[in-house]
Amino acid sequence: MNNTIQYTVDNDGIASLVLDLPGKSMNVLCDELISDLSACIEKVAADEKVKGAIIASAKTAFVAGADLTELVTAYDRGVTTQQGYEWSQALTGVFRRMETCGKPFAVAINGLALGGGLELCLACHYRVMTDDPKAQLGLPEVSIGLLPGAGGTQRLPRLIGIEKALGVILQGKKLKSREALELGVVHEVAPDGELLDRARAWLLNTPDPVAPWDVKGFRVPGGAGAMTPKNAQTFMVGTSLVAGMTHHNYPAPIGALSAVYEGCITPIDTGLDIESQYFGELVSGVVARNMMRSLFVNKGAADKLVRRPAGIEKSKVTKLGILGAGMMGAGIAYVSAKAGIQVVLLDTDLEAAKRGRAYSEGLLKKAIQRGYSTQEKAEALLSLIHPTTDYADLEGCELVIEAVFENREIKAGVTAKTEAVIPQSAIFASNTSTLPITGLAEASKRPASFIGLHFFSPVDKMPLVELIKGEKSSDEAIARGLDYIQQIRKTPIVVNDSPGFYTSRCFSTSTNEGMTMLAEGINPALIENAAKMASLPVGPLAVMDEVTLDLGYKITMQNARDKGESYTFDSGFPVIRKFVEDLDRKGKRFGKGFYEYPEGEKKYLWPGLAELYPVKEEQPPVQEVIDRLLYRQALETARCFEEGVLDHPADADIGSIFGWGFPPWTGGTLSFIDSVGIQHFVAVCDRMTLAYGPRFKVSDWLRERAIRGEPFHQV
Ligand code: NAD
Repeated sequence: MNNTIQYTVDNDGIASLVLDLPGKSMNVLCDELISDLSACIEKVAADEKVKGAIIASAKTAFVAGADLTELVTAYDRGVTTQQGYEWSQALTGVFRRMETCGKPFAVAINGLALGGGLELCLACHYRVMTDDPKAQLGLPEVSIGLLPGAGGTQRLPRLIGIEKALGVILQGKKLKSREALELGVVHEVAPDGELLDRARAWLLNTPDPVAPWDVKGFRVPGGAGAMTPKNAQTFMVGTSLVAGMTHHNYPAPIGALSAVYEGCITPIDTGLDIESQYFGELVSGVVARNMMRSLFVNKGAADKLVRRPAGIEKSKVTKLGILGAGMMGAGIAYVSAKAGIQVVLLDTDLEAAKRGRAYSEGLLKKAIQRGYSTQEKAEALLSLIHPTTDYADLEGCELVIEAVFENREIKAGVTAKTEAVIPQSAIFASNTSTLPITGLAEASKRPASFIGLHFFSPVDKMPLVELIKGEKSSDEAIARGLDYIQQIRKTPIVVNDSPGFYTSRCFSTSTNEGMTMLAEGINPALIENAAKMASLPVGPLAVMDEVTLDLGYKITMQNARDKGESYTFDSGFPVIRKFVEDLDRKGKRFGKGFYEYPEGEKKYLWPGLAELYPVKEEQPPVQEVIDRLLYRQALETARCFEEGVLDHPADADIGSIFGWGFPPWTGGTLSFIDSVGIQHFVAVCDRMTLAYGPRFKVSDWLRERAIRGEPFHQV
């Protein structure tokens, strides 16, 4: 019985294997499909009437990759390296059997073929690919902590040479049909409607059931091994590049590089075996679990709006109002117009509103120069953005996003003016980074329609939007907010109201820790480099300069005023105060901060730091500095979870990686706690509380959770 592949044989003896996973929009290599494929290959091999076979897909794409459902839980199920090796060998065995069964296999690649999908194609003897510009080939496994474990690291270099193959395997380079043809990854490119005929023609006219690497005397194009000068250089440079980029936090690129190097100097079967060994090591490890779960499974679910309240009709924004055409308003206008939404961009004076629109113009100019856009498309996008000072222009907006100064009174003023003109049914969202939504909604006559939509800067590059539910926000407002985030192709997380919500609150703990360490006399270069070694995008002092010390100062002073005597200043605040009040070094935008910014040259740490905070003779180990930065953010996230700011660990993880660049190898803040082990995490925090102060103190709730051994992610 075969559920996933339609198998037929025509009068010429050509078998067709049409992959069609029931109930799914895409084919993925799940156990059932692999087992059916194996059975079909045996039929082709055994049936004397069958001369050869075509593999095709009944879906709009070919095969999106392997089914990660099983793999993502491998670490938690205690899958061993050996079992991981066997999993890879099983799939490799099916593909190898097809390649060596004596019958020729052609594949009609009608669209996307990624990961295991491309590996299946590479094991076929002849590849015809559609000329559809949307079709792509690629091996993205490294980006989720794995390596191509079904022959990708062995067949691709044997086909196109090691250097070019490494571009696809290590950098996740995607190949469109023309490029795939030029590189020799496919034999032919044809219009979609002709794929099957071309594959057939090859099978009937010039079939060859032997792969190039199975021909005696085969050599890898360009050579393999350290004795080939070019390869020696490729691997030497490649290894140091990978080490420099990953700081050894990501085992997958090193594993893939090793599999290519070691595998390509051996016969194909040994090479495939070597690949499986590296695959087994990776898939049974915690980094692959973290990356697969957060970057693929949970991000995918977030993009499909897993948190959307049920039973509310799907919505679409056609006209959007933006209040405030500053840095954020201008960015939101660009991404919205890019999604085809008509935007009214309002500011207090027309010049400011026009400057907001000019921001899109600048981005589009660059896009045209790089060949990503055309003059025509750019003009169409710009024509959607209408700069104004007139509230009446907001009439008919389904959604309005407020991005004026971070000041309650100003925000209240624009809310009232806007509500006077927008439809009753419209949603009002604030892009505040710190002010609680419930409080801001008090200025609204329709608090049920009031939500927070917290974007990140620069808006056109940052993939996340944090949706904040106020106490009175309705399910409909949340659903429509999520629909809009999906419409502009960003990833949403949903959090509950609190000062700084989730991302701003947790992100700032590590900059605060960086400044605290500076004041303690820890070498600022050590602080900055430790952050990079943990694979954080930039050091905490550099980040502080970027967001400006001035902003940190203003937010803290506002909070202090709000809370009065009960307010406790962060341990790093004296540093901010000194830099803003005494030194007038307010950050990058002001030309100076923790760094100097000489024009046209690289920034460097301000030498005056040494006088201000003399460096202690005895410096901590790098790992201790790394731990202080990561543990503070993870602990603050646990507090958010305890307080109900976060409802789901997946939101915490996605928010931390895509919102502020918490290292992806950790899987995000709560996955980090689970990965080091919750008991170990609490023990380290206890030690740090004694060493550095109460900001590392764990709550009874977290301690009890540790005693129970209960991770955040339920396995
Ligand atoms: P900005 O100073 O660059 O821009 C604010 C804009 O609002 C200015 O153009 C100003 O003229 C306009 N404005 C002020 N009062 C107005 C009024 N009454 N009516 C209409 N327009 C008015 O500020 P920004 O960085 O774009 O931040 C805007 C909001 O977004 C703030 O609430 C901020 O906390 C939040 N935010 C900022 C960032 C960031 O990284 N900068 C990130 C997330 C959220």
